[in-house]
Amino acid sequence: MAGTKTLLMLENYIGGKFLPCNSYIDSYDPSTGDVYCRVPDSGKEEVEAAVEAARAAFPGWSARSPQERSQVLHRLADLLEQALEELAQAESKDQGKTITLARTMDIPRSVQNFRFFASSILHHTSECTQMDHMGCLHYTVRAPVGIAGLISPWNLPLYLLTWKIAPAIAAGNTVIAKPSELTSVTAWMMCKLLEKAGVPPGVVNIVFGTGPRVGEALVSHPEVPLISFTGSQPTAERITLLSAPHCKRLSLELGGKNPAIIFEDANLEECIPTTVRSSFANQGEICLCTSRIFVQKSIYSEFLKRFLEATKLWKVGIPSDPSASMGALISKAHLEKVRSYIKKARAEGAQILCGEGVDKLSLPPRNQGGYFMLPTVITDIKDESSCMKEEIFGPVTCVVPFDSEEEVIKRANSVKYGLAATVWSSNVGRVHRVAKKLQSGLVWTNCWLIRELNLPFGGMKSSGVGREGAKDSYEFFTEVKTITIKH
Ligand code: NAD
Repeated sequence: MAGTKTLLMLENYIGGKFLPCNSYIDSYDPSTGDVYCRVPDSGKEEVEAAVEAARAAFPGWSARSPQERSQVLHRLADLLEQALEELAQAESKDQGKTITLARTMDIPRSVQNFRFFASSILHHTSECTQMDHMGCLHYTVRAPVGIAGLISPWNLPLYLLTWKIAPAIAAGNTVIAKPSELTSVTAWMMCKLLEKAGVPPGVVNIVFGTGPRVGEALVSHPEVPLISFTGSQPTAERITLLSAPHCKRLSLELGGKNPAIIFEDANLEECIPTTVRSSFANQGEICLCTSRIFVQKSIYSEFLKRFLEATKLWKVGIPSDPSASMGALISKAHLEKVRSYIKKARAEGAQILCGEGVDKLSLPPRNQGGYFMLPTVITDIKDESSCMKEEIFGPVTCVVPFDSEEEVIKRANSVKYGLAATVWSSNVGRVHRVAKKLQSGLVWTNCWLIRELNLPFGGMKSSGVGREGAKDSYEFFTEVKTITIKH
């Protein structure tokens, strides 16, 4: 293959060593469509080697005090921070997201994930109750579970991988992580920092490759008692099935079909730019992105006009352009999938007000083969349409009117997902009422994506099982035991 010599070649990181693989997968630059990197196509054999390394490292690592482990996490956070620019450039190239987003969100948050869990691991307490009439004292102790299997998606590559690695190792587990085969570069770069940070060999193992090969070998391995997965709902079904014979502990963070509910008393000055961002940030490839916008009838026309004007300013550009609001989608297959939803909506009689098929996208010649599309707004669409029911995971949002509070809650809840919702109103009573009735693990009112890492994160219904956060992740990554002492 022409140009093969210049391709970036990744290696697995197992037992503290970089190891080549027998076969490799091509990885594409989404902004050009060119192969630029090769990712190990690992399988059972590599997973087995990683299990051996993780098993050998577990006694030493789990015996360390939380303070000692915390120091290692802090050192890793510092090293990632020193490499911030290099990691941001790599994330942007590998994923297609803008360099600005990688610099201001992905990599800073990856650093913060290690700092956050380095701190929170020092503050957990156990429970104790007395039963004087029986002469008993009961208390709980927690211990790391063992080898944690961590599987992450391509949309926020290092951000979501570190959100799993940090709490798992802080609690004393050893881990085998599998990033998405589409975006493996920053995980491989992080491996180069682990030894310097003082992470002992075998505590963090990263095995690169596809879901059906590495993912399934990890999920089916009897010595991996726990799987933390972020990704799509169909993959979660497969993981649940494969782990059932072993009764594994599962944390599943899945997709969404997130509503924004905009009442007539909303502050549109704030609501409109935030809703443009919540619809199109990271090319709409965030599980928390808004894809159904319900607007109260009395302000529908005004909202739509201003929302369209603001959307047209959301600039699509090459990821390295600092003035771009949005870069390229992850892959050709994904771009085609997103486009197919727009085609379906058009065939059903919906109106495409801007974006795909309506406006012209201009790109430099070198980027003509990239996976770009314009932010797209759809109206006159029925709630039963697949664009209003299924997760598209791209820069596409639907705007529809509603009359009453009761009606909009019912419609917002009428999908299988329940991850995140936004509510816009200046009526405090209404905000509380609506937030409580929405079937959604997260509700942001008059804002979007302001995260408090201490509190539970996760979805209801088909959006997931379990929660992540300071206490939730600690509980997930530890086994609890209740001890009764009779005196
Ligand atoms: P995906 O399910 O295709 O892949 C996710 C990961 O699972 C990848 O590493 C993949 O290789 C692996 N995988 C695939 N098949 C597997 C199998 N059979 N066994 C084990 N592992 C397997 O998801 P994706 O396309 O990478 O990511 C997009 C999805 O992730 C969307 O649905 C999005 O909403 C969801 N997501 C959810 C959250 C959240 O926190 N709830 C965050 C980000 C993304």
